[in-house]
Amino acid sequence: MSDNPLQAICSTIGRISVSLHTNISKLISITQKPHTGTNVQFSVSVPAPPTATSSMLAADSSLFQPTEKVGPVTREQLGRATWTFIHTLGAQYPEKPTRQQKKDVKELMAIISRIYPCKECADHFKEVLRSNPIQAGSQAEFSQWLCRVHNVVNRSLGKPTFPCERVDARWGKLDCEHRVCDLQGSMTLFGSQTD
Ligand code: FAD
Repeated sequence: MSDNPLQAICSTIGRISVSLHTNISKLISITQKPHTGTNVQFSVSVPAPPTATSSMLAADSSLFQPTEKVGPVTREQLGRATWTFIHTLGAQYPEKPTRQQKKDVKELMAIISRIYPCKECADHFKEVLRSNPIQAGSQAEFSQWLCRVHNVVNRSLGKPTFPCERVDARWGKLDCEHRVCDLQGSMTLFGSQTD
């Protein structure tokens, strides 16, 4: 032990400083991933991310709803999801659509008939569109047309048809606070046409 109390204090501070430095360095090398493009190289190797398996997905509750089946989507599930999208678009479609919006829904239907990920369904839908040209002059017209073409598909699959007078009750406007989900129609904020 030194006789000089100041020297003892300095020595203690020095030891604490070395200890802190060592521990912080260890901590950084554990948490930091290797990074290229800088002069700093970290020697700790990070294992490659494991590939996801069903059991891993099942373990990570944030990836799926508890009741949801993990695996490929069936034709029925795909159909229900697509009809939900299409009829919701019908419900949200503006009363006075712009020329662009009318063009967009026409193109969307044509695209679905080409790229819908079930070839048999897509081919059939092409025929349905050919014999039922799209009507999208207003929200009512478009949602009723959608109902009719969905019924054509229903009939071809031996399913009951849906009463189209109930389509607004089944597919009302999107449940969305303060109408922030509404599509802009032909009126801008300044009251002029936007098409
Ligand atoms: P869906 O027909 O999916 O309907 C979902 C919900 O919509 C119903 O529960 C009902 O509440 C409501 N609904 C039903 N009819 C109407 C209507 N007319 N108007 C408004 N709402 C309605 N499957 C095939 O096997 N072969 C095909 O060729 C085929 N073609 C398809 C083409 C398209 C463009 C789409 C989107 C789907 C197609 N499907 C096809 C899938 C098929 O239409 C059904 O989605 C699937 O069989 C599941 O049927 P579902 O009985 O659950 O109800």
